[in-house]
Amino acid sequence: MEPAQIMSQTESSNVPYDLLIVGGGVNGAGIARDATGRGASVLLVEQDDLASYTSSASTKLIHGGLRYLEYYEFRLVREALMERERLLKMAPHIIWPMRFVLPHSKLVRPAWMLRAGLFLYDHLASNMTLPKSRGIDFRTHSSGRALKPEYTKGFVYSDGWVQDSRLVVLNAIDAAQRGADIRTRTRLVAASRVNGLWEATLEDRTTGATSTVRARALVNAAGPWVARLLADTLKVPNSKSVRLVKGSHIVVPRVFEGPQAYIFQNPDKRIVFAIPYEQDFTLIGTTDIPWEQEPGKVAIAADEISYLCESVNRYFRATVKESDVVWSYAGLRPLYDDASANASAVTRDYVLDLDTQNGAPLLSIFGGKITTYRKLAEHALEKLAPVLPAVAGQSWTANEVLPGGDIGEGGFTAALDRLRRAAPWLPEGLAWRLMRNYGSRAYEIIGEATSLAEMGLLPGGDLGTREIDYLITHEWARTAEDVLWRRSKLGLHINDAAKAGVETYMRQKLG
Ligand SMILES: Cc1cc2nc3c(=O)[nH]c(=O)nc-3n(C[C@H](O)[C@H](O)[C@H](O)COP(=O)(O)OP(=O)(O)OC[C@H]3O[C@@H](n4cnc5c(N)ncnc54)[C@H](O)[C@@H]3O)c2cc1C
Repeated sequence: MEPAQIMSQTESSNVPYDLLIVGGGVNGAGIARDATGRGASVLLVEQDDLASYTSSASTKLIHGGLRYLEYYEFRLVREALMERERLLKMAPHIIWPMRFVLPHSKLVRPAWMLRAGLFLYDHLASNMTLPKSRGIDFRTHSSGRALKPEYTKGFVYSDGWVQDSRLVVLNAIDAAQRGADIRTRTRLVAASRVNGLWEATLEDRTTGATSTVRARALVNAAGPWVARLLADTLKVPNSKSVRLVKGSHIVVPRVFEGPQAYIFQNPDKRIVFAIPYEQDFTLIGTTDIPWEQEPGKVAIAADEISYLCESVNRYFRATVKESDVVWSYAGLRPLYDDASANASAVTRDYVLDLDTQNGAPLLSIFGGKITTYRKLAEHALEKLAPVLPAVAGQSWTANEVLPGGDIGEGGFTAALDRLRRAAPWLPEGLAWRLMRNYGSRAYEIIGEATSLAEMGLLPGGDLGTREIDYLITHEWARTAEDVLWRRSKLGLHINDAAKAGVETYMRQKLG
């Protein structure tokens, strides 16, 4: 192995950054975007790829969290519902509305309770534009066709859906365009307060080289590692702690027709979603399993697969079997530890902990939701502003679209029509995918191409070298996995030979 290259001195003598953000999940990327837009100089470091951990392993709902009403989390639900409306406008290419069908089961919550909860859910946010909830009769409503005949009544309500890992990348792109330095595959390995600044040692995980940077303030957005970073890397005492709760999902071939999702109540009072996924599939999740081991990559366990199959088989006419599972994923929720006895009951709200007593400011983030990341970033900077004037500017992110989100009049359908008119040679499926993933930036990928051949399609799918080059140049993609599982979900659609083709192309391209 090559010895690690040390280049600490040159960099450490440079002008310090205003903010060093540790963690390239949704919270770190959101804070980087907001802070850079306020004029701060920002460095974000992510030890792997952007959204490698929790932020690509969610249920992908932009939601208030209907079930949190049962735990009286009104502040969180209201904030999340307000954010739902904002995010739908900020990124209409990767976030879209969805209707959720909730069958009434006599064994779980009474119908009056569901009705009251949905009424509250519809009225907590003053800016709601989505269709409100209503009761439905499954004997006549099309969504009833997929359900067992004993379910005759239920409700339907609105929430949003997001391509979670793309949301992270879009925030990072926007931050970078505004001047942030985003370094993936770069780990913070040590940091200490020196003369009123943070002095941090970074490790480039591709080369093994280390470097030193300085910053006026440090944001610990390390998600599942938030407590480890404080105790082991920064060696800073902290009274707050994090509860890691594993949640897993399975993906199976499409179980039901229609664009609606289902939310099923289990006898254990938990809920499980079944959501239309990537055109041909159904996404089913999730579980709540306390996690006591080290944070890192986690995988679904056999009993979780059985639990998820059982949960949906209670309701669907079609039977979902363990052997139907084509893909699964799992992630760790980094929840703020509020001492709840039950993993499902631990608060999903976030807590920001600012430490200024020991010198340069340190802000740590406990908990949070994808849905509330923008608001969390705003709150984080409000908290830092008194000790870090560089972020004291006006909040600005509430109405600014994310990259590619300026898809123009008429929403997604009209934008897709325009793309198809501009490039009539694009197959329908590819045009749709480009608009869904990249919005107005689809035109950047197409560039000068005037035929499908010029998109450089690789064998076995509709992924071309133009798209991969774009992902390498603008979205920090470095491996086939980055491209196939986080920048897109093409991994679900193409075979092993095609995946190998992507890998070979990227290796050649990146040397
Ligand atoms: C199963 C499940 C379902 C969920 N469903 C939803 C949902 O439907 N809707 C919703 O709104 N929310 C949902 N959530 C919650 C949401 O996913 C999380 O709150 C959010 O993704 C957390 O983001 P984060 O940035 O804090 O953490 P992460 O995404 O984990 O990011 C932290 C990053 O820090 C990096 N890091 C750690 N240490 C270092 C270091 N020393 N140096 C450099 N980098 C470091 C890690 O590599 C990691 O990428 C769900 C979560 C789970 C697990």
